[in-house]
Amino acid sequence: MKHICIIGAGVIGSATAMALAREGFQVTLVDAADRPGQGASRANGAQLSYSYVEPLATPAALRALPGWLLSRDSPLSWQPRWQLSHWRWLAAFIRACTQARVQQTTEALLRLSFLSRDVLARWQREAPTERPLGVQVRQAGKLVIHRDAGKRDAAQRQVAWQARFGCRQRVLDADACRRQEPALAHDRAPIAFGVWTPDEAVTDAQQLSHALAEASGARWRMDTRVVGFVQRDGRVHALRCTDAGGAEREIEADAFVVSAGPGAAALLKPLGVPLPIEPIKGYSISLQIANAARAPQVSVTDAARKLVYARLGERVRIAGFAELRGADLRIDPRRIEAMLQAATDTFPGAFQTGDPEPWAGLRPATPGSRPLIGATRIGGLWLNTGHGALGLTLACGSAWLLSQLMQDRTPSIDAAPFRLQD
Ligand SMILES: Cc1cc2nc3c(=O)[nH]c(=O)nc-3n(C[C@H](O)[C@H](O)[C@H](O)COP(=O)(O)OP(=O)(O)OC[C@H]3O[C@@H](n4cnc5c(N)ncnc54)[C@H](O)[C@@H]3O)c2cc1C
Repeated sequence: MKHICIIGAGVIGSATAMALAREGFQVTLVDAADRPGQGASRANGAQLSYSYVEPLATPAALRALPGWLLSRDSPLSWQPRWQLSHWRWLAAFIRACTQARVQQTTEALLRLSFLSRDVLARWQREAPTERPLGVQVRQAGKLVIHRDAGKRDAAQRQVAWQARFGCRQRVLDADACRRQEPALAHDRAPIAFGVWTPDEAVTDAQQLSHALAEASGARWRMDTRVVGFVQRDGRVHALRCTDAGGAEREIEADAFVVSAGPGAAALLKPLGVPLPIEPIKGYSISLQIANAARAPQVSVTDAARKLVYARLGERVRIAGFAELRGADLRIDPRRIEAMLQAATDTFPGAFQTGDPEPWAGLRPATPGSRPLIGATRIGGLWLNTGHGALGLTLACGSAWLLSQLMQDRTPSIDAAPFRLQD
């Protein structure tokens, strides 16, 4: 039996462990943290956003880019850095901002997201009773509310175009939005229209990471940081690691998968494998529900404020913002204040705001929002990383696709859009 070692036990690495273990591989999961799901996957927006996969790089984003540079408080902000890799990433981002490219990427990501939905459902269904997949996935449906009536025609066109690929979506007027989510009746800002997608779901990404890592039966090597690779005859032969106490050791395997999220680019740089991944910081808060009737049941996205709301049991997770400012995890209190204000304006009386559990995470973003799934030019070294704003949504499909590629099988969907370009 082949032994595969996966670097990173976020939602992507844990899903990869599950996919490979189900195919009969012996799997080891290595992570610098003390348990799975402590990086970008920890307290994200919780959206299984299968029909909302449009890339960040669009013609509209290109027009807005100078504004992001000027304002620190806009939902998206950018601070230039003097690293060549940063400017290369930005140049590729700008090249990706064409309508043709947006459509190609959206189509490729829709295929991957639908595959993800099917694979997760299969794993839940087929989990053996002695090792169940211990996570709740709730098909809440997603309502995207728009404040600007001028955007309705474009939304209608997008819904019609996506229907060709199997998305089930409807444009609703403001009253229909409030019928779909009665808690919006108290929203202090007017709603122009909304888009309702009944198939979307929510789940806690940290719980899913943990559940997949556990259900896979993989061997865990937590508190273990990978600091380099041992190569022999042009192949990666082992990982060089340090444990929490600083002791060094090597981990040998037949093949290695890099799922190190925002840490992947730095890890592979010394091998001469440049990964076009930049960290894009986002924030979340998790609020206890004070009045259940006033809190949203369905997953709500406020398109103008670029915030998502997901009900997770007795709490609502609110997430958003995109800061292209390097790998800085400090929490800007103005972002937390803005989310609290938006939450209490949109759902007045719904939440206790005493302890908002502020969190910041780094989305591992490629310029065109396409994850990197497949081989590298170094023998035995594979990639499953760069999932940007959609890692939770795309995790299970990406893992399944990689396992097919590693076994030289015909993949379920075209893998070419996700290949690393040399
Ligand atoms: C605010 C916010 C909201 C989001 N909302 C959503 C959402 O609603 N839906 C959605 O689909 N996606 C969402 N995302 C994106 C999603 O969270 C990410 O795409 C996803 O978590 C990436 O998973 P990952 O496993 O690649 O990375 P991570 O979860 O960061 O995991 C990488 C792991 O690698 C480990 N690691 C790194 N370097 C090393 C090393 N050298 N040695 C050992 N271990 C290492 C880290 O410790 C970490 O555990 C959101 C992201 C943010 C920030």
